[in-house]
Amino acid sequence: MSDVVYFDNNATTRIAPQVYEAMAPYLTELYGNPSSIHSFGSRVGRALDSARTQVAGLLGTGDEVEVLFTSCGSEGDNTAIRGILGGVPEKRHFITTAVEHPAVLGLGQHLEKEGYRVTWLEVNEDGMLDLDELRDALSDDTAMVSIMYANNETGVVFPVHEAGEIVKARGIPFHVDAVQVPGKIELDVKNSPIDLLTVSAHKFHGPKGVGALYVRRGITLRPFIVGGHQERNRRAGTENVAGIVGMGEAAAFTAGDVAAEREHLGGLRDQLQSALVSACPDARVNGAKSNRLPNTLNVAFEYLEGESILVLLDEFGICASTGSACTAGSVEPSHVLRAMKVPPQWLQGAVRFSLSRYNTQAEIAFAAEKVPGIIRRLQGLSALGRVGTKENLPGHAS
Ligand code: PLP
Repeated sequence: MSDVVYFDNNATTRIAPQVYEAMAPYLTELYGNPSSIHSFGSRVGRALDSARTQVAGLLGTGDEVEVLFTSCGSEGDNTAIRGILGGVPEKRHFITTAVEHPAVLGLGQHLEKEGYRVTWLEVNEDGMLDLDELRDALSDDTAMVSIMYANNETGVVFPVHEAGEIVKARGIPFHVDAVQVPGKIELDVKNSPIDLLTVSAHKFHGPKGVGALYVRRGITLRPFIVGGHQERNRRAGTENVAGIVGMGEAAAFTAGDVAAEREHLGGLRDQLQSALVSACPDARVNGAKSNRLPNTLNVAFEYLEGESILVLLDEFGICASTGSACTAGSVEPSHVLRAMKVPPQWLQGAVRFSLSRYNTQAEIAFAAEKVPGIIRRLQGLSALGRVGTKENLPGHAS
C-alpha cells in the first residue's frame, strides 16, 4: 500500500499510465498545429480525429461531429447553457436543480442577475428529483433544462432519461452534466432524449484541462469562445492536443469495462460503508436509499465537523473531502445536504469517500480500521459529543 490512500476521486483521478504514454509524444516531438496544411501538422490533426472517435465511443454516438472538445467540465456546462440560451433570446426561463455542481449552480445565479427566471428543482431527503415538479415547471417560455446525471457529493443518480422524455415532449433542449458518470454508468446518448452532455477527462483517469461536450446533430449552439475555426466553428482556440489524445485513450479504456468496474467499485464502497456504519452507529449515509454511483460514499458523523475529520484522516495519508465550500474562516454547509434537509446535527459532519479502479481491498480495510478511532477521538474532544454550540466546546465555561 502506498503512503497515500486516495479516496477523493470525485475531485480528480490519477492519470492512467497508458494515458500518459499516449500523450507524451504530443508534448515532445509531435508539436505541430493540427490546423496547419503541412503534413507535420496534419499528422497531429489525425490524432485529434482518433481521439474524437474514442470519445464518441464512450458517449455512445457513432457520429464524431457530435463531439466538441472543451477545456473542462465547467466549460462544457457553460458552453451548453450559454450556447442554447444565446440562440433563443426571447425565451427567459431556465430550469435546473438545487443540487448542481457550482459550474451550473453559479451560472444559474448569474442568469438570475441577468433577468432570467430560474426554476431550482428540489430534491427529497434521499436526494431524489421529483419528475412531476419538472413537468409542472415547463412553460412556453422555457429556453432549456439542465440536470446533472449523478451528484458529485452524494453520488445520487437522477433519472435523466425519464426527465429527458418529459422535456423533449415539449420540444425543449435538454442538457445533462455527466461529469461524474464515465466508468460508472454506460453512456448511450444516441438512444436517449439528451441533446447535450458534458464530460471531463480528469474524472476518468485522463488529464486535467480537457473535456468534451456532446451536441446532438441539429442542435444549434452559439459558440462560447469566438475566433478561429477550430471545432467546426463551435470553439475557437488551438486545441490542447496532448490533453485531447489523453482523453481519447482514457475514454477507450473507460468505455471498455464499465460493468466490471461498477462491480469492483460497488463492492469496495459497500464494504467501507458497512464497516463505518457498524463501528459508528450514529453515522448517517446521505443518499443511501437512492440509486447511487458505485464509487461514492457520503457519510456524516453526528455533531462533528467534516474538516476536523479530514485533518485527522490526512495524518494517516487518507485523502477524502467534505462536500462543502470553505470561505475565509467560516465553513458553509453543503448546498446539496441542505437541499436534502439533512438534520442540523449531521450537516457539518459529512465526509465524502470517492473510489476509483486503483483502490484496493487493503486500502478499504485500512480506512475501516482508522476512521472509527478518529471519530471517537473527535467525539471525546467535543464536550458531550457536541460541537453544534459554542457553550459545548471544551474549555468554554457555560
Ligand atoms: N460537474 C460536476 C458534476 C462535477 O463534479 C465537476 C467537477 O467536480 C464539474 C462539473 C466541473 O468539472 P471540471 O473540474 O472539469 O471543470
